[in-house]
Amino acid sequence: MKIAVLGTGFAGRTMAAALAKLGHEVVIGTRDPHATLARQDTDTMGTPPFAKWRTQHVDVALAAYPDAAAAAELVINLTNGMGSLDALAAAGTRNLAGKILMDIANPLDPSQGFPPSLNPVNTDSLGEQIQQAFPEAKVVKTLNTMNAGLMVNPGRVGGGDHSVFVSGNDADAKKAVTSLLQSLGHQDIIDLGDITTARGPEMMLPVWIRLWGALGTPDFNFKIVR
Ligand code: NAP
Repeated sequence: MKIAVLGTGFAGRTMAAALAKLGHEVVIGTRDPHATLARQDTDTMGTPPFAKWRTQHVDVALAAYPDAAAAAELVINLTNGMGSLDALAAAGTRNLAGKILMDIANPLDPSQGFPPSLNPVNTDSLGEQIQQAFPEAKVVKTLNTMNAGLMVNPGRVGGGDHSVFVSGNDADAKKAVTSLLQSLGHQDIIDLGDITTARGPEMMLPVWIRLWGALGTPDFNFKIVR
């Protein structure tokens, strides 16, 4: 499948590499490909410059948001949650219309210091805001409750025996996303309901962030026991 992964950070790169390895035709979307390739700094989380990563992943293309989205059958949002609506607007309403839009972003607002707060929260979610802004896209919120390494390789912890959620209004889109999740190794995929149910997984982030601090590693996940 032709897949656009919007986002050049650790999560976008990890997802793009895994999907390319599964045989998909993957392009990463960014605001400005020249600027992205020209960056030379390792970021505060230790993520190396994109150009360095790219030398080891020549099978993944790089394009501006609209070009990446236009050519794709499936679009994945892995942009910073505070910039996701802008990134998707840049990708273009027409380029998203009728397509599955897997939203993995978290609306974490760092402006008031650590820990970041959620915005929107409680009575709204980023997933819903994206669906509202792009009504012809089939938004499915998923995978935002775990580290990118686990998104693409759930077997890294607990033999893969842990849970992932899907939220969205379109049953067929959720079915397609479920099958993509299974191809990545996910076993326990829980359909929470329509896109308003994205509020729950987004509001798991404050717990996730504190668990990261308490456990000293991002390699853990939630398991819904029933
Ligand atoms: P990030 O630093 O949060 O996001 C980087 C991407 O966001 C870049 O592609 C950047 O564009 C884009 N971006 C930032 N501000 C923008 C704006 N105003 N307009 C358009 N694009 C903008 O990287 P990340 O850590 O990989 O996380 C990406 C998303 O995945 C986040 O929403 C995060 O919450 C979610 N997530 C991450 C993980 C993880 O393990 N890291 C786990 C779960 C969920 P350029 O390419 O142009 O610089």
